[in-house]
Amino acid sequence: MASEPRRQTALPELPTPLVVGLTGGIGSGKSTIARLFSTYGVPVIDADIIARELVSPGSPALHEIRDSFGEEYIRTDGQLDRSRLRQLVFSDTTARKRLEKILHPRVREEITNRIRGISNPYCLVVIPLLLEAGQQDMVERILVVDIPVELQYERVKTRDSMTTSEISAVIASQISREERNAAADDLLVNDGPLEALEHQVAALHSKYQALAQEKR
Ligand code: ATP
Repeated sequence: MASEPRRQTALPELPTPLVVGLTGGIGSGKSTIARLFSTYGVPVIDADIIARELVSPGSPALHEIRDSFGEEYIRTDGQLDRSRLRQLVFSDTTARKRLEKILHPRVREEITNRIRGISNPYCLVVIPLLLEAGQQDMVERILVVDIPVELQYERVKTRDSMTTSEISAVIASQISREERNAAADDLLVNDGPLEALEHQVAALHSKYQALAQEKR
């Protein structure tokens, strides 16, 4: 049987950028680091932002959440009641898995679509639960941000109104610091001042530019 002829197009195959996945525990500094990379013009895709956009009022994901968890998780203005859902999923593993089943495939699809549209040699994808959710196949390099657990509490308390036990519940639901660090291709230690972070990001930016060059 004759094989299907390949469709000829005038467009060359678009090269995909080198995809660096940034992960780290709650309050470790992922958003701060992503901002630093973006000052170099590096495109940043943030899984948390995508997840928030996906549950906008009237969205299919929000409908699924309503069907699965109940009307009480939708506020009267049609928005998801995030703090209520957060309380549930950090105290109930089955509920967390149910929520992840609704969100993760959609977030993955959106991340893939966005990567396809990038012309920069490399991009950063921020995925807080990269390792917990087994999403390593989405990225080519894993950049882990590491901080001591005591600093996580300190920085989250300064930033948010979360209590110690709420922070503990989140940390307990995440992979341990040791396991996360063991999965790193690159490690960024964020236990010092912001200037120290800036230097590390500058060095990593040069490294990723070189690696992206090799890939092309
Ligand atoms: P989350 O997982 O909760 O979204 P995150 O990993 O994105 O958090 P950030 O929001 O970037 O963490 O940082 C947590 C807090 O710590 C923020 O208020 C940020 O400004 C602060 N922070 C980050 N890095 C440093 C640093 N090197 N020195 C002082 N404060 C810092």
